[in-house]
Amino acid sequence: MPNNLQDTVTLNNGVNMPWFGLGVYKAKEGSEVIDAVKAAIRAGYRSIDTAAVYGNEEGVGQAVREAMEENGLTREQLFVTSKVWNSEQGYETTLQAFENSLKKLDLDYIDLFLVHWPVKGKYKETWRALEKVYKEGKVRAIGVSNFQVHHLEDLLEDAEVVPTVNQVEFHPQLAQPEVLKYCQTKGIQLEAWAPLGQGRFVDHDIIKPIGEKYGKTPAQVILRWDLQMGVVTIPKSVTESRIIENADIFDFELSGEDMQEIGALNQNKRFGSDPDNFNF
Ligand code: NAD
Repeated sequence: MPNNLQDTVTLNNGVNMPWFGLGVYKAKEGSEVIDAVKAAIRAGYRSIDTAAVYGNEEGVGQAVREAMEENGLTREQLFVTSKVWNSEQGYETTLQAFENSLKKLDLDYIDLFLVHWPVKGKYKETWRALEKVYKEGKVRAIGVSNFQVHHLEDLLEDAEVVPTVNQVEFHPQLAQPEVLKYCQTKGIQLEAWAPLGQGRFVDHDIIKPIGEKYGKTPAQVILRWDLQMGVVTIPKSVTESRIIENADIFDFELSGEDMQEIGALNQNKRFGSDPDNFNF
């Protein structure tokens, strides 16, 4: 069990990834994302999750470089994730998209690069491109996002490199038992997006009293539940006090009973798109 904010999980290729990070979906390019990333790193975060489609890779890169300087950190102490967007999928276009992300971030390398969505008929070629940049040493780990079990099975038929990570929508109402189990059997680390249900659960009437027992907020209970489920988590906030609050989850442990009570909230309910039926 991770017991501090900088604890890492060792991925299937030996790379260490922090269990906890900052998501920056919808954080505006410029001062909003820069201030959020810098506040997070100041607070002890070491992992940042962006994507080409978020339009804020430049700000993320700038913030990472400034935060390294200001906090006396080396690049190796930080972990930056980005993703190739759907319109760029395919072999050559993904190679180009990777270079674009690297250039925007203006870092020597990316830690983790993901296939953002399983675009039908394309994701295998996209994966081949990721395997190439991985073998060239431009990225420390490659993975996927929004892959269901059947997508992973299909990918693994031809893949030379097993994905290190699958980042999926995951929260108390979408606990993804099949995907979690499959990934565990294949050594693929599950990572939660929208862990707070994009803000819907921060006042939840069942989770709130659980938190009160530990002196924790509902957001903290849910993020701790992620870690105890063995799932990497990347809550988003651009508000410094919430960035600090969300990471203050390493001094308590949810009981088995409370884990079960939260687990019982699962309704297979998505707030985001269905990976088997999306049109973007
Ligand atoms: P989230 O569940 O992290 O919720 C974020 C929202 O919750 C914030 O905008 C804020 O309004 C609220 N919030 C955060 N902390 C709070 C607190 N302590 N108290 C009260 N309210 C609080 O949703 P998300 O941003 O969609 O997901 C997290 C990250 O996952 C994203 O930023 C992004 O990096 C990633 N993501 C990936 C995909 C994908 O397809 N791979 C899709 C969506 C998000």
